[in-house]
Amino acid sequence: MPAPSPAVLDWLTRLVALDTTSRDSNLPLVELVAEHARSLGLEPRLFPTEDGTKANLVVTVPAADGSTDGGIMLSGHSDVVPVDGQAWSSDPFTLVERDGKVFGRGTADMKGFDAVVVAALGTLAATPLREPVHLALSHDEEVGCLGAQPLVDALGSVGLAPRVCFVGEPTSMRMIRGHKSINLVTVTVKGVAAHSSLTADGVNAIEHAASIVRYWRGRSDAWCTEGPFDEAYPLAYSTGSVNLISGGNGVNIIPAECSVTLEFRSIGTPEEDRAEMDALVAFCREVEAAMQAEDPAASVEVGTPTMTAGLDTPADDPAVLLGQELGLAVQHDKVTYGTEAGIYANAGISTVVCGPGDIAQAHKPDEFIDLAQLAECEAFIGRLVDHLRA
Ligand SMILES: [Zn+2]
Repeated sequence: MPAPSPAVLDWLTRLVALDTTSRDSNLPLVELVAEHARSLGLEPRLFPTEDGTKANLVVTVPAADGSTDGGIMLSGHSDVVPVDGQAWSSDPFTLVERDGKVFGRGTADMKGFDAVVVAALGTLAATPLREPVHLALSHDEEVGCLGAQPLVDALGSVGLAPRVCFVGEPTSMRMIRGHKSINLVTVTVKGVAAHSSLTADGVNAIEHAASIVRYWRGRSDAWCTEGPFDEAYPLAYSTGSVNLISGGNGVNIIPAECSVTLEFRSIGTPEEDRAEMDALVAFCREVEAAMQAEDPAASVEVGTPTMTAGLDTPADDPAVLLGQELGLAVQHDKVTYGTEAGIYANAGISTVVCGPGDIAQAHKPDEFIDLAQLAECEAFIGRLVDHLRA
């Protein structure tokens, strides 16, 4: 069975050992990789967040002529999901090999890919390249792809514009051209508390929030029956759901507050998603007006939405063609989970998702990656280096 090089396993061991759960800093990881890049004579660029607790990392291996124009971006995220409440058979932050697999948090999602690319930096730096290669490691992917847009902005600020991007999320090394967008918004309905025997004195936040819940269910049902449809998805239409609700503080009190978190995953464009969000806000304003007719103190607050663009890369796009030339297969079906790829695509970079491991193992206890998958990814990066050799 094909096996990854010791260097890949060594890097994966080191990356897994750094607990980069999204709520914590990713600096130990990006600084470790940056230090390695410096040791190879490369100039890593760290782009810290405003509060300085996290950073995006970009390492550019210039072309043989020193140029950093265009090039191929290999994109991973540095953070992992929490292990809280999960029953693991071994320490999640110690890489353990068993039955042709390695176990640990992030092995599949997506430190396996990160390790393969970091391990290849030495070869890349030593190879005269026809065009540059950029390693990009983002922060906060797992909490709404928060690092990807700042990363795009940072690339622009230093004059980098990769032409092709491979996002190494686990796809069993098949190229994925499409996924839905993910949009989340929390609406907080503020009523007026009163003794529940005196309903006329209060404004019931839960009842008014319920009308927003019903509106959202109506929108979701409409997408299901009216489309638009894209049969390449397991669910061929945009989906919506209400995923969190909280409100009330006593069985005999008119509730003063209720908040609901609504989600939709759409097959539409960012503009269409924005229009849907605007329509939701307009409906919330109607609810607010109805509440204020009962008592002017009532209000409806719509939080800042988290909107992560979908991906819809054409079959003849440069990233797809390059991947095919390097032996990657295209997966016909589109996937339901989101990635940073849509954000990079919207920035004008031809982007596909392709990485080692299976998404089915992501986020679970005893997360693992097959050694054969790491080997396949390492072979792909090897073919990429050969392809780019000047
Ligand atoms: Zn991931």
